[in-house]
Amino acid sequence: MKKTQTLIHLLKFSFFILITSFSLNAQRTAPNQEPSRANILRGEYGRYRANNDLLYYHLDVRVDPDKKFLKGTTTARIRMLKEDSRIQLDLHEALKVDGVFYDEWEPKPRAGGTSRLREELKFTREAGALFVDFPQPLIAGHIYEVAVNYSGNPLEQGRFGGIAFKRDPAGRPWINTACEGEGASVWWPNKDQWRDEVESMKISVSVPNDLVDVSNGKFLGKTDLGDGYTRWDWLVQYPINNYNVSLNIGHYEHWSDRLGDVPMDFYALPEDLEKAKKQFAQAKGMMEAFQHYFGEYPFKKDGYKLIQAPYSGMEHQSAVTYGNHFANGYLERDWTGVGISPRFDFIIIHESGHEWFGNAVSAADPSDMWIHEGWTTYLECLYVEYMFGKADGLKYTNGYKSKVRNQRPIVPARGINAEPPQDMYFKGALFLNTLRSVVNDDKKWFALIREFYQQFKYKNIMTEDVEEFFSRRMEKNLTPVFEQYLRHTALPVLELKFTDGSVQYRWKVDEKNFVMPVKVGAKTNLQIVTPTTEWQTMKTSVNKDNFEVATDLYFVEVSKS
Ligand SMILES: [Zn+2]
Repeated sequence: MKKTQTLIHLLKFSFFILITSFSLNAQRTAPNQEPSRANILRGEYGRYRANNDLLYYHLDVRVDPDKKFLKGTTTARIRMLKEDSRIQLDLHEALKVDGVFYDEWEPKPRAGGTSRLREELKFTREAGALFVDFPQPLIAGHIYEVAVNYSGNPLEQGRFGGIAFKRDPAGRPWINTACEGEGASVWWPNKDQWRDEVESMKISVSVPNDLVDVSNGKFLGKTDLGDGYTRWDWLVQYPINNYNVSLNIGHYEHWSDRLGDVPMDFYALPEDLEKAKKQFAQAKGMMEAFQHYFGEYPFKKDGYKLIQAPYSGMEHQSAVTYGNHFANGYLERDWTGVGISPRFDFIIIHESGHEWFGNAVSAADPSDMWIHEGWTTYLECLYVEYMFGKADGLKYTNGYKSKVRNQRPIVPARGINAEPPQDMYFKGALFLNTLRSVVNDDKKWFALIREFYQQFKYKNIMTEDVEEFFSRRMEKNLTPVFEQYLRHTALPVLELKFTDGSVQYRWKVDEKNFVMPVKVGAKTNLQIVTPTTEWQTMKTSVNKDNFEVATDLYFVEVSKS
């Protein structure tokens, strides 16, 4: 009796889920919105995620382009951090779980390296979460392997489709993944969160013989499976975010180059080969610029790849995708509107910049994503400075002001799969330019950002780590400055009150302890003052109309009276 009622309830409920859940799951938590259960399951680093540490994945997937069908296995090697009998993995509801198996890996490795794990496990699914239950508690410190067999037609969703089964202009299959917002679990089973990156990974993708798969990492080789399919094997030898794990299946042509000891590999459709060879040459200048500021390319053993894709582009680790029309600017526009963007290919520079910030230095939660986007936008500015000089770098940076909205803070709530606003890019970069002006010593600034990168590469960090680093190294409490720019909506306003021969000044901000120097005065003779939230007075011979504030160096507003 109870069973039937439950069944009817489930049927009603699943009808409701069918019509609503895909759109719910596809969406991250919006501002001022209570997080949905699906977003809590996706966003929270709860007990069944925190009880283990990811060591290694092997994703082995077969892709049928005609049926838009996936069939494969993720084998996850985990170290238990706490004794527990359940872990959380994730897989989108559109995909079926065909079975979950496990075995101990250490200290008791499976005999003979059999591919089939010993014991089948029970599992339950809730929204995109896949809870796996073990027959007895796993032991803290021991290493286990859990294999999830899955299959189905993934649901295309989000900005770039998550996984999109397209055709190239000549009508051949062209299948690519880009799932940062939706989560990698839209196409393969994994522990789909940002805090815990797997340390290394093998990616095996089987595709019809006439197609190529380009994934992340080092190419190991291809194997003809004898049934019309070929398996392409790739090895990622560094920590990687789930959403960076990618496949690019197409009728690709390939050519190679290198810069010093960094292998560079390029992939484009045959019809676009000449254009691509010309445009992709910019990758070398990008590599030189970012190695100059931050140190060597972080994924040297895996190499750098640039791969043509049907969408604008994505920073997939060591396998950056490109769809910027083989033209400078961004989708053939002058991106910051000041005449500098047409000198370089925005997608090659921006998406590859993420190799340093986003892929090497990674945020531990989507709320802290400005660490990816604000920093990488700032890297564009550094690229311009490296290529065309400091004045153009500054001009390009200030071009971003027109894109800043100041409608809500850059850093939203943590742990609820919240989507930060676009200001994380533009205001983020302008904030870093402001911080450079606070340091007011380029040599020191470049040493600082290099040290920051070197300290946190291959780590997952939060905004607090960035604040703490700069405060400690600059020996002043910069937390109120970071908080004002990142966790409040309004820009700092420099209030100026003029009287005969002097000016009063203070910051109008939300942060009570906000102290930040700024350059002010006569245009040809700016001087540094350090306003607080209290009024101070300085003598000046410059009148109200001619009194300048260096708003190109500091992203602030000015109010004169
Ligand atoms: Zn980006």
